[in-house]
Amino acid sequence: MTTPAGDGQLYIQGKFRPAAGGRTGPVWEKATGARIGTYARGDATDADAAVAAAREAQPGWAALAAPERGAYLRRFADYLREHHEELVLLSMRETGGVRAKAEDEVGTSIRQLDISAVQATENAGDLLPPYKAGKLSMSRAVPLGVLGIITPWNYPMNLAMRAVAPGLAFGNTVVLKPAELTPVIGGQVLARAAEAAGLPPGVLNVVTGDGPDAGWALAEHRGVDLLDFTGSRQVGLAIAASAAADLRPIRLELGGSNAFVVLDDADVDLAASAAMIASYEFQGQTCISSSRHIVLREVADRYVDAVTRRAAALTVGDPLTPGVDLGPLISEAQRDRVHQQIVQPSVALGARVATGATYEGLFYRPTVLTDVTPEMPAFAEEIFGPVIPITVVDSEREAIELVNGYPMLMNSVFTADLVRGMTVAERLQAGEVHVNDAHARHGAENQMPGFTRRQWIGVQRTPLTLPAWTADPDGRR
Ligand code: NAD
Repeated sequence: MTTPAGDGQLYIQGKFRPAAGGRTGPVWEKATGARIGTYARGDATDADAAVAAAREAQPGWAALAAPERGAYLRRFADYLREHHEELVLLSMRETGGVRAKAEDEVGTSIRQLDISAVQATENAGDLLPPYKAGKLSMSRAVPLGVLGIITPWNYPMNLAMRAVAPGLAFGNTVVLKPAELTPVIGGQVLARAAEAAGLPPGVLNVVTGDGPDAGWALAEHRGVDLLDFTGSRQVGLAIAASAAADLRPIRLELGGSNAFVVLDDADVDLAASAAMIASYEFQGQTCISSSRHIVLREVADRYVDAVTRRAAALTVGDPLTPGVDLGPLISEAQRDRVHQQIVQPSVALGARVATGATYEGLFYRPTVLTDVTPEMPAFAEEIFGPVIPITVVDSEREAIELVNGYPMLMNSVFTADLVRGMTVAERLQAGEVHVNDAHARHGAENQMPGFTRRQWIGVQRTPLTLPAWTADPDGRR
């Protein structure tokens, strides 16, 4: 990279510059606590400048032919490819994820750019059935304008690219505000990639900074045509309430309490192996992590035994050490939330610790809790930590009833009978349900762009006949 990671600068109108208020903050390596860089702490003044730059650049960017925008995205992807190893290491250090997670993050970002470069050149609208004889009706996809994109710290690069890449491809310009815990891999390196790709000034702007300052300023900015927010329900609710006051368009990707259902005919070992991914991948800090395991009584003892044995055998440590399965949690605040607000109160209410529930620094042991009931936070809350809470039920129907009624993104069902699995899946109220699988099959290919609006076009194909009252006094049409 041309400058070291964590260089403490914003990227606005194609230029690197310090925050208007001159403030900076530290970037930490999560496993060691070493300081690995600095980020600029932007505020409302910087958000204003970035939105103004994006507004100015948008008409020219949208006016480019789609293959030209696609070529910029390919050059952006080339930069990430050329720096692949460097970026993987940076992601491991800044997020605390193991190599496989970091490679997934960078690889998905590159694939997203490649896909969006092609999407830009595909179908740009539809021919519609005319509502009346003699008319031709069309709709075309037109850019929304300026996108404000706010992202979290768990998969900072690809959660940014899943919105930035299709957004740019369809002719929008962007102001990106990455999470303050991961401002380098989630923002600064993307600014470097934009510069290396030669993106016209203002097309992608990166304003690093803290949520309540730079984030809130962008979230309620009147110059943003769509705010795309990925993060917690709590912040999402505040943004939704503010946006509702003057009907500003927003798109929210939040969290939930996802369920992992093990039916009485399931292959218990398969389910237990998948549970390691579903609840422990990236220390359970993904929006699609399974937060509660609902297991039919016939297989419950075997399932508890199978997950406990696997969990106890996992190694926790610095992800740069070969063979480590789980790295650190992202912060002390996150660790305290997992331990003090989820695990300890659930144990106080009667949950039993089968393994784990201990930590050293940010390193939290993979945990299995049994005897979990719906009153406990381990059942009802999104955990965002390496915890498998197990609740035993007596019937498939009870399992379905217990799963539904909570905010959820993704569920899993395990059963030997595929038709039964699909039937149960249809009854679970999650955005996505896997049968005999965990969440890891979710790639750039499955994202829905959604960064255009439909413009309806009517063309009159035959001589127009208008009612007499529409003519001027001389009878002219
Ligand atoms: P968070 O809501 O604390 O922060 C997310 C982003 O919002 C960060 O950039 C932060 O700086 C910013 N922010 C914080 N306060 C703000 C405010 N008042 N105004 C504007 N912006 C503000 O969430 P987090 O802890 O970074 O991420 C974890 C959450 O994200 C979990 O709930 C998880 O489920 C969710 N998540 C959802 C998805 C999804 O696709 N649905 C993906 C990943 C994470």
